[in-house]
Amino acid sequence: MNKNSSNIMALAPNTSNKRETVCIFGTGDFGRALGHKMIQSGYPVVYGSRSTQISNLIPKDAEVLGHAEAAQKAAVIIIAIQRQHYNFLTPLAEVLRGKVLVDISNNLKLNQYPESNAEHLAQLLPGSKVVKAFNTVSAWALQSGTLDASRQVFVCGDDVEAKQMVMNIVRALGLTPVDKGSLLAAQEIENYPLQLFPMWKFPMFLSLGLTAFFFFYCLALDVIYTYIYEKNNFSFFIAITIPNRVCPVMALILLALVYLPGIFAAIIQLYRGTKYRRFPDWLDKWMLCRKQLGLIALAFASLHAVFTLVTPMRAFVSWRTSKGIISQVLNNKTEPLNNTNAWLSDSYLALGILGYFLFVLLGITSLPSVSNNVNWREFRFVQSKLGYLALILCTAHTLVYGGKWFLSPSAYKWYLPNIYMLSLVVPCAVLVIKFVLIFPCIDKPLTQIRQGWERNPKHSH
Ligand code: NAP
Repeated sequence: MNKNSSNIMALAPNTSNKRETVCIFGTGDFGRALGHKMIQSGYPVVYGSRSTQISNLIPKDAEVLGHAEAAQKAAVIIIAIQRQHYNFLTPLAEVLRGKVLVDISNNLKLNQYPESNAEHLAQLLPGSKVVKAFNTVSAWALQSGTLDASRQVFVCGDDVEAKQMVMNIVRALGLTPVDKGSLLAAQEIENYPLQLFPMWKFPMFLSLGLTAFFFFYCLALDVIYTYIYEKNNFSFFIAITIPNRVCPVMALILLALVYLPGIFAAIIQLYRGTKYRRFPDWLDKWMLCRKQLGLIALAFASLHAVFTLVTPMRAFVSWRTSKGIISQVLNNKTEPLNNTNAWLSDSYLALGILGYFLFVLLGITSLPSVSNNVNWREFRFVQSKLGYLALILCTAHTLVYGGKWFLSPSAYKWYLPNIYMLSLVVPCAVLVIKFVLIFPCIDKPLTQIRQGWERNPKHSH
């Protein structure tokens, strides 16, 4: 055999790889966008439409026919039509018998109908094989090619072969099919595009509430109090000083709130003597949004770092520094370096830097691309051990910062503690209880409970 003929042999399978025609019902936004993408990927596309007039919006190489005629040309039919119009399909039941119908529809509200759109379609046309797919991809993303964030296409259906055919199309379009099982999963898939950051809701509301509280607390103590009693107008504190007090307080409290539910869970398990009973709902929900709480805490910590870095540029700070120098010159007296103060301020900064470094590390390991590359033990090590270390460092950073003010009466304006003192309550409580929990006499039964041991087993073997 000569070289050329072997090349022809190698190319031969390609020629038989011609893609099967796909039919799309509906020439609306989504039908057109998907058709365009399919033609690009080599699929002949035929549209089934109420009007067979070709408009210039329809992809150039596509055919437009009546619904029944178009359906006969393909084994896979994509229903790019809103659910409320599905009734028009019933007279076509015979033509659609045995065909794969792809339901791509979405609703306007969560759980708008008792059954999912795909199940509704399957009930209307029991002779056809319904597959749910593509509903989480937007027409705009298909058309503009900005599919980086949403390459996954969730697919579900009762007929395995039909599902495979749709998954093959998904792959051919350069997207990633994710098999979600039978058509029962359609409801969940249809709800995806309607959710608005479900895991972020509680952490966001909590952060907004706490931020507002601490902001007004600082405003009262640092601006209003000083104005009333010291006749100083420090209203410009609103721009940098107060945010730079609120941000570290928020970062510390939120980081502690990441570890607090774990402490509650341990206490509940110890009290019940079993891990086989559900946690209360609020604790379950709290545990599920720990990552989001941690990421918001990291955002606050980063803002604190940036606000702190601009300190030397501030007019107020250079005025205060020069005032100190001038008073030394006027009094003809040089203040010696206070070694204790130098130690305190350097260690406070060092603790902050190290704490922030670990904080960033925790943030990076929570990214899916990183967490998918470490095993469960490594993930636990970083998120739990290093996380606690970050909490210890950040708490120490705050303690060293405010340590010497705790006992000074001037720190209690209107008899209220400064906010960094308030910020220490939750982290210190978490650290003290955690310290107690790692005592061997408590840690041992807790570990046993987590391995399945029960104090009062209900079912004896
Ligand atoms: P659309 O622009 O309103 O188009 C719907 C098409 O349905 C119309 O162009 C029409 O096509 C056909 N139609 C309308 N009324 C009909 C009736 N009474 N009987 C038969 N056919 C009728 O909607 P779309 O944005 O393309 O969305 C279509 C489906 O895709 C929806 O279920 C939507 O939830 C889903 N979806 C859309 C997107 C998106 O980004 N747009 C993303 C994911 C899923 P003809 O004039 O050719 O008959």
